[in-house]
Amino acid sequence: MNDYGMFINGQWTTTKQTTPVLSPATEETIATVPIADERSIQAALAAAKKAQRDWGRRTGVERGNVLRKWADLIDQNRERLARLLSQEEGKPLGEALGEIDFGNSWFRYYAEFDRRIEGEILAADKPNEQLWIFRQPVGVVLGIIPWNYPMAVAVRKIAPALIAGNTIVLKPHEDTPLSALELAKLANEAGVPPGVVNIITGPGETVGAALVRSPIPRLITFTGSVETGKAIARSAADNVTLVSLELGGKAPFIVMDDCDLDQAVSTAVFSRFLNCGQTCICNERTYVHKRIAKEFLERFVAAVQKLKIGNPLQAGTQIGPKVNRQELEKVEGYVQRAVKAGARVVTGGQRKTGRGFSKGYWYEPTVLTGVRQDMEIMQQEIFGPVVPVMEFSDFEEGLSFANDCRYGLAAYLFTNDVHRIMRAVRDLEFGELYINRGPGESIHAFHGGWKQSGAGGDDGRHGLEHYLQKKTVYLRYQG
Ligand code: NAD
Repeated sequence: MNDYGMFINGQWTTTKQTTPVLSPATEETIATVPIADERSIQAALAAAKKAQRDWGRRTGVERGNVLRKWADLIDQNRERLARLLSQEEGKPLGEALGEIDFGNSWFRYYAEFDRRIEGEILAADKPNEQLWIFRQPVGVVLGIIPWNYPMAVAVRKIAPALIAGNTIVLKPHEDTPLSALELAKLANEAGVPPGVVNIITGPGETVGAALVRSPIPRLITFTGSVETGKAIARSAADNVTLVSLELGGKAPFIVMDDCDLDQAVSTAVFSRFLNCGQTCICNERTYVHKRIAKEFLERFVAAVQKLKIGNPLQAGTQIGPKVNRQELEKVEGYVQRAVKAGARVVTGGQRKTGRGFSKGYWYEPTVLTGVRQDMEIMQQEIFGPVVPVMEFSDFEEGLSFANDCRYGLAAYLFTNDVHRIMRAVRDLEFGELYINRGPGESIHAFHGGWKQSGAGGDDGRHGLEHYLQKKTVYLRYQG
């Protein structure tokens, strides 16, 4: 067991109150972390503000070198970091290794912007005048992140913030603070100056809310649930703080009768059960054309029943536990209410019990049929190993079911008909489409939700834009 501190101004500090971090697989305490008090919250914000002037004045190459060094250090520690990530979040070790590598690639990618943040020279309206648009750092960034990808999302926020010349205060989720704290342990060696990166721990409702209320951050970059995102946006409005929100999803997975069925089945399984169903772009509702519905369901259920659920640190495990008890109870509630409303459990449908499952937050991989579009299970984000499967009768109906939802993050389509593909590209109301392939963003693309799934977004050069503000300069000189 390890007692962690918080990382403020390049130093490790603690507070009187601490909270345990539990392994979701065993319910054992694997570490303790401080609950930030008002003093430490203000100290982190003040340190970030003070450090920003110097950091922002460094050359891009100097900042990029720090990111590159940090990436090298993560590579050197990847097995240890992956084990810890698997222990705190519950994902299988192989997925944790993938998350470390994927997350780390943002450091190297954003380091490449060391010479690429550019301004504009405009034609002046008056003689002997010069007109420029500069792109400058916003100042202090506040990053608030969820528990499902605690390492990758931490880097997703830190890397663009730093290359643009900002400093950051990052608050990881209270259930999974260790990955971000371990990242900070490598910061000094990477050459991150004191105050440039600060990690604050504690609950969202108190510590997170206090950070959001502060006028010091000029950008809040948030990844998490829709409800928290709305609360943050409301609070940020008081200081007119910029907000970028990456929120929940309810991805439809549309399977047409002309597709490669093997591929559709295996991708639908992977896309739902990856990270125990706790991925924002997961297959949350599967829609299958009526002509192939029976065959799809048989093959899909057979594949789901083969999934190996168990100890995330053991080789071969495909599904670990849910992250915490509330999440387990939430998923259980969704299934129970769906069944009450008429859904049929084809496989799973309850907590996983038996040897090896007496402790921890286990739920059986579950497939539901007999669902209707207006049911809660088709409209609300489940975020667990449960998938409702519903038939549709033609392509237009499939598209309209997909769009009939408050979320708009990701959508999947399996078809080999180019005309249908083009109609879907035009008509689907989602920020990210996966056509004939499974989930997984590219770091240099753009990840952002439509509708209530978000405002703003991350990744690539478009994601970097949020971390920069424009300054227009009109200059007159003697002619
Ligand atoms: P959450 O909203 O409960 O918590 C996210 C973070 O917000 C945590 O750090 C939490 O402590 C903090 N927080 C909670 N209340 C707060 C408040 N009032 N003020 C400030 N901070 C507060 O979300 P979660 O359960 O950690 O994550 C799951 C959700 O995240 C799902 O909806 C999922 O779809 C979404 N998610 C979205 C993306 C994306 O890229 N769009 C990626 C990953 C997860």
